[in-house]
Amino acid sequence: MDTPILADAPPSHVERFRAELIRHGHLLPTGVDGLYGRGEAFEKVLSAVDALVGRLAEGDTVEVLRFPPVMTRTGFEASGYFRNFPHLSAGVSCFCGDDSAHRRALACTPEEGGWASHLQPADVVLTPASCYPVYPIVAARGPLPEEGWLVDSSSYCFRREPSLDPIRMQMFRQREQVCFGSPERIRAFQARWMERAMDMFARLGLKAVTDLANDPFFGRAAPLMRNGQRSQRLKFEILVPISDPERLNACGSFNYHVQHFAEAYGIKAADGSVAHTGCAGFGLERIVLALMRAHGFDPSTWPADVQATLWPPR
Ligand code: ZN
Repeated sequence: MDTPILADAPPSHVERFRAELIRHGHLLPTGVDGLYGRGEAFEKVLSAVDALVGRLAEGDTVEVLRFPPVMTRTGFEASGYFRNFPHLSAGVSCFCGDDSAHRRALACTPEEGGWASHLQPADVVLTPASCYPVYPIVAARGPLPEEGWLVDSSSYCFRREPSLDPIRMQMFRQREQVCFGSPERIRAFQARWMERAMDMFARLGLKAVTDLANDPFFGRAAPLMRNGQRSQRLKFEILVPISDPERLNACGSFNYHVQHFAEAYGIKAADGSVAHTGCAGFGLERIVLALMRAHGFDPSTWPADVQATLWPPR
């Protein structure tokens, strides 16, 4: 048989993984890279992972808060997110005109920019991380209690990084614990959640490691920002193989912000000094994908102990 001169490259691990997720109805492609509907079985696992994270926090004195996938533009601006991560940011635009402006927008051709070019920036933006809406709320309450404060937050988050790799979704859910208080409290919180996460991943049959990490800063200042974060050991991630079995990807991060958010929002300790903050967050979709990479696409065939961890017998 003749060898074709231009053979197609074999599908990569990432392409095969994506194709299987779609074939099993776990992810429903929309035509926009990184934007999916989720199937019933996928959601059932995700809800179980979400509840499992909640069980890890049992015994903590924690305030549970839930947020929609948009937050205030003023809160977003104060965070400095657009300064550091403009490439991942997205706002919301609305139509604010009258009848004649509406007619002009409808008549605007795609070549002229289309109807969307007639929209104005709104007072809300897409939430980049589920801890962001928490800071202005805690700041508005006045100084923290003596022992600090702890919030369990969750929201859909948006990152503008369209990709065919299923781990890089544009919208996904985060479950985050957000800690306020002294540097000692935040460091202890960070270490405790790394331990809890390693234990949770072991019980899920996932071979995870933790490692020092940095955020994906933008532009010329990026190397400086990355080095600063690493040399002060501010960010750790928990990593497992997901789309590509040969590579590790983060499923969670454990962050000490020092006084960045407290200064930005005016969050004060009980003695009036600027507080310290930290957060420990999990990417829920990524954990579900890691489970499917490790145990297959049909959760009913997963190892009994993994199923019992996700759906504990009552
Ligand atoms: Zn966070």
